[in-house]
Amino acid sequence: MEPLAIKKYPDKILRKKCVELEEITDKERELLGKMFFTMRHFGGIGLAAPQIGISKKLIVAKVDEHTVKLANPEIIKIKGTDNMVEGCLSIPGVGVDVERAYRIVVKGLSENGQIVEIKAKGLLARVLQHEIDHLSGKLIIDYLPFWEKLKFRVKSGR
Ligand SMILES: [Zn+2]
Repeated sequence: MEPLAIKKYPDKILRKKCVELEEITDKERELLGKMFFTMRHFGGIGLAAPQIGISKKLIVAKVDEHTVKLANPEIIKIKGTDNMVEGCLSIPGVGVDVERAYRIVVKGLSENGQIVEIKAKGLLARVLQHEIDHLSGKLIIDYLPFWEKLKFRVKSGR
């Protein structure tokens, strides 16, 4: 399998809102598989469909023994907060300290089209929140303080 190309900031697709999937077919399963392969190939622990140029609500993640392939993910519970510096395959070389919920419950559709709820904490909870942000066009640089954001825009020529 060949890895898919990763869209890099400031590609506009990264800012587009993704659409929900009506059903999970072989096409979506194949896409989730390719996304998973691509994520692993580039050393990532999470990937969202917009990062490979597709505006659909699909995410994958791999943290320790947890493998996640999910459509239409939605956070239904949050608890606690935690800070950590995050990176993103779409914004190479940039690390941003992001405050996120420490524990979450995510509801979505599994690759078999079944409704599932995933309880996650720590790094897995963080990765899932990061990938779900991608589905609404939100990026880690949006968490930078105002002046840092400004510097970032100047550096990237926007
Ligand atoms: Zn990312």
